[in-house]
Amino acid sequence: MIFSRGWLPGLAACLLSCSPLLTSASSSHKQHCKAVPGTPDWPSPASWARLNESLAGRLLQPPPPGAVCHPGQPTYDAAECPNLISNWSSLDYHHTNPISTYWNNWNNDTCLPYQGYPCSGQGYPLFVINATTARHVQLGVQFAKKHNIRLVVKNTGHDFIGRSNAPNSLSIWVHNLKDWKYHGSGFRPKKCKSTLPGTYLTAGSGSQMWDIYTRLDEINQTIVGGGGKTVALGGYLTGGGHSLLSPHYGMAADQVVEIEAVTPSGEIITANSCQNQDLFWAILGGGGSTFAIPTTFTLKTHPTPRLSHLSVFVLTPLANTSSVVFPLQAYITSQFPSLSASGLSGYAFLFPPSTPINLIPGTNASVGGFFMSCVIFQSPPSNTTSLPFPNDILSLWTPILSNLSSTFDLTTNNFTILTLPTSYPSFLAYFTDHHDTTPAGNNIIPYGRLLDGPALTQNLTKLSETYQKVSLGPDGGTGENETQPGGVIAAHLVSGPGVHNHPNQFKTSVLPAWRKTYLHIGIQLRPAQTHQTHRRPHRRLVVHPLRRQRALEASGRPSLPRRKCTYV
Ligand SMILES: Cc1cc2nc3c(=O)[nH]c(=O)nc-3n(C[C@H](O)[C@H](O)[C@H](O)COP(=O)(O)OP(=O)(O)OC[C@H]3O[C@@H](n4cnc5c(N)ncnc54)[C@H](O)[C@@H]3O)c2cc1C
Repeated sequence: MIFSRGWLPGLAACLLSCSPLLTSASSSHKQHCKAVPGTPDWPSPASWARLNESLAGRLLQPPPPGAVCHPGQPTYDAAECPNLISNWSSLDYHHTNPISTYWNNWNNDTCLPYQGYPCSGQGYPLFVINATTARHVQLGVQFAKKHNIRLVVKNTGHDFIGRSNAPNSLSIWVHNLKDWKYHGSGFRPKKCKSTLPGTYLTAGSGSQMWDIYTRLDEINQTIVGGGGKTVALGGYLTGGGHSLLSPHYGMAADQVVEIEAVTPSGEIITANSCQNQDLFWAILGGGGSTFAIPTTFTLKTHPTPRLSHLSVFVLTPLANTSSVVFPLQAYITSQFPSLSASGLSGYAFLFPPSTPINLIPGTNASVGGFFMSCVIFQSPPSNTTSLPFPNDILSLWTPILSNLSSTFDLTTNNFTILTLPTSYPSFLAYFTDHHDTTPAGNNIIPYGRLLDGPALTQNLTKLSETYQKVSLGPDGGTGENETQPGGVIAAHLVSGPGVHNHPNQFKTSVLPAWRKTYLHIGIQLRPAQTHQTHRRPHRRLVVHPLRRQRALEASGRPSLPRRKCTYV
């Protein structure tokens, strides 16, 4: 079945109104709100015990991970606490814990591993199913539906907008769904008549980038995958998934040919281009856990490319350089569409003046300007074992850098231009050196924009002003305006011809803007943590109604009218 974009509203409306899980609280049950402990419909201990039995003991009640640092908590452990604190900012810790998430504000800072601050499990799920099969996922969905419980899916806990965590919920932890089957000579999706040519991988939705890259590298293959070692297929593919390989091969969602998933009604289904096509389309781009819980994905693999890599530095340590830094950033990024047409992809960072980061090799200075780590592939990969010649990537940058020198006053403004070329024999070799090492364990509110060719090339004055406003805030960094400035802009050149022209583009619900985009820009606002500054972080959780009622009674204030639902 071919889907047009105009079909989306109909599908969305149907899924919203027809999904038994989504409507269970409103139409099939009289009660509007989800069950929480203390309300009559919350399952009895015996019901939870029966669920645990049906799962062969895979039901967990994990304590909040930060509790090991809080005397008075059952899991307090003075010896373990320093280890936890030192791992709290590492991406590697949170993905192995059944409830921990990377960003504190999505647990409402309810149990940070620091003494002197409160610790409770209120910001976390109450029960967790450690799923290793689709049947475990199915039992969880059916139980949550039957008992009107809030359901959440956690994989690694990377989610930038907190969707892998919810209080008072039953969480399905899909991290251990690790199926693996490589199809070296084509793949025939179930109920389809023909075999798709090429190479494919069927992998559990808990499979993570580093494991996939490593295992596929043994047979000289790779996937269109993400830049973080621990990112898992579940959230990555349902979000569309961009990659260094996307400008060549399309979005990650474009590579998928079959999904096994548990639907909101608790059925285990197969979705592909021959059955459940609507769900197949909706899952691939519709966002994590929106339409179903995928347990495996079958996706295309590609021969691992040999790469030329270049680090490009155009940086100044001088503070008062806004009039040069932002126009310079606009000029360089205006070259991205033509660089993309030449096969370049990569990750750039736009630094406002005086960014406290030491990037100029051999100096100790805060900087402003531009940095990019970029690659070109030898595609199709050649059979020779010699490394690609890094000068081919350098030659793409030579005219841009000489134009910079003649257009901007780089000498007076003390700019350093530096290019460091390297070569890699495989994607894994490149990734080992250049994976994303963003620290976790803090507060985050991200936002981003997709920039197409006209946005990048038609009005460089406006583009420069935009970068300045985003980086410094609308008041130019004076602090008069309350809007928080974004600081460093991550500017990822991860789209291009392979995304724009992908034949599967109408088979997925990936945001259509990607089909024209070159640059994905992202900014991470970092609201202060309450334990450090007493400023309130972004609040998402709502106080339990019974607790709120008691607090109002104790304060002698009149009760508020009962809210329709416990959670927003
Ligand atoms: C260091 C780092 C690097 C990144 N690099 C890239 C990149 O290069 N390209 C890119 O596109 N993105 C990248 N991302 C973003 C990443 O793809 C998303 O955060 C993604 O949602 C993570 O998915 P997850 O399953 O690992 O995380 P989780 O937080 O566990 O899940 C994310 C969302 O998906 C849902 N979900 C996860 N698995 C399932 C499942 N099996 N069934 C149903 N719902 C599920 C969760 O409920 C949640 O809503 C990066 C993120 C980080 C932190």
